[in-house]
Amino acid sequence: MHELSIVTSIIGIVRENMALHGVGRLKKIKIQVGEMTAVEPEALRFCFGICAEGTDMEGAILDIEEVPVIGQCVHCKKEFTLDRYSDSRCPECGGEAGNYVSGTELDIISMEVE
Ligand SMILES: [Zn+2]
Repeated sequence: MHELSIVTSIIGIVRENMALHGVGRLKKIKIQVGEMTAVEPEALRFCFGICAEGTDMEGAILDIEEVPVIGQCVHCKKEFTLDRYSDSRCPECGGEAGNYVSGTELDIISMEVE
């Protein structure tokens, strides 16, 4: 399961940070997930709940911010939002998105601890 390996790596990073700063309990963690990663926020929360159970992260809130996919047109360089369920084209000239400006994120933004 895709989400489980993501949660495992997130927990690893969080644990390292907690140890580094000598904090005992995680209250909330905020992450940014680009739509292009094809990660289901619900599945992510579910996996996090299971992995955090019985640890110093139990009960922590996983706050997921979804980032839409923004592509840049190969022709006119206009940036536009791509719908992940359809073949989105540039609204100006109908061109394809050449490169992606955002939507591939999978980052920890902030942590709240006690
Ligand atoms: Zn265009």
